[in-house]
Amino acid sequence: MKVSELLRSGKPTLFTFELLPPLKGNTIQTIYDAIDPLLEFEPSYINVTYHQSETVYTEKKGLIEKKIVRKRPGTVAISTAIKNKYKITVVPHLICGGFTKEETEDALIELNFLGIHNILALRGDPPKGSRVFIPEENGHRYTNELIEQIMDLNKGSYLSEDLKHNYATEFSVGVAGYPEKHIEAPNMDADLQNLKRKVDAGAEYIVTQLFFDNQRFFEFVDNCRKIGIDVPIIPGIKPLSTLNDIKMLPQTFAIDLPHDLMKEASKCKTSKEVRQIGIEWCTMQSKELKAAGVPGIHYYTLSQSDNIARIASLVF
Ligand code: FAD
Repeated sequence: MKVSELLRSGKPTLFTFELLPPLKGNTIQTIYDAIDPLLEFEPSYINVTYHQSETVYTEKKGLIEKKIVRKRPGTVAISTAIKNKYKITVVPHLICGGFTKEETEDALIELNFLGIHNILALRGDPPKGSRVFIPEENGHRYTNELIEQIMDLNKGSYLSEDLKHNYATEFSVGVAGYPEKHIEAPNMDADLQNLKRKVDAGAEYIVTQLFFDNQRFFEFVDNCRKIGIDVPIIPGIKPLSTLNDIKMLPQTFAIDLPHDLMKEASKCKTSKEVRQIGIEWCTMQSKELKAAGVPGIHYYTLSQSDNIARIASLVF
């Protein structure tokens, strides 16, 4: 089923979550182990992230060696495996980074052949250590361009001039939104206008970056509505899980940790203690969001679901 249809189905607040493909060297069982404890909460769909190759420099006998590695391959295969095993709708992520337009077209054809008709369209982050995103030559610089290509294919228009009236795909596309602004955007207004470009290009719903202060989400939704963004906006949230999260999350995602959360988290000596605080805070966030009538709550699991299962048992 398409996510856009699920969102229109009238079901109150969908329960959905995101998984990461396992690090190279691990089995797909790690994915099933993350899904199994969440099945009883009837997830409406499951997202699978996409990870670009990274450039890694290693020293060997005094020489620096450059290697291109993909640490988490398998997005399409994992999505298909989940769809077949659990009969649950899957939403693989598709990014601009690392793809030419031709490669994007081929990836879309492959998804279509596999019976996958949902995509979360993203740009992808700049490579590690860099602040600048560089698209492939003949690739997309911004997500709105990627969506335009997907919408062309939905009209049966392929890249080649002689393939303009052919088999039309039926992709339903979601995009990312940032309640606390995307890190590179000069200001919130500019970022919202760029979000609107994605919706105008054909995105049918928005999933937000994680946040810990619901007020930021509610203000974001109000500001979206004011400029005519009228598609469903699904809050994406993640419980604090480790001591490292306290430093890493604000730095990586340019988000704030609210004073009250920090007051509790800073008393913690171990990740186990942080995990407990994280469950309590995320449960409180989820209950408030659900009471406000959000269309769904999307949980970032990082493929570890014990804490999400505890939260879901109190909320869904
Ligand atoms: P865009 O919408 O292209 O925006 C990027 C920046 O450019 C913003 O600052 C925006 O304001 C600006 N901008 C946008 N359009 C234009 C335009 N036309 N002209 C000028 N400026 C413009 N990353 C991965 O690599 N893999 C994943 O699986 C993944 N999953 C994610 C899931 C969610 C729900 C979220 C919120 C993020 C995810 N990311 C993922 C991270 C994402 O790729 C980064 O946040 C990335 O930096 C931005 O992606 P975007 O699609 O929002 O980019």
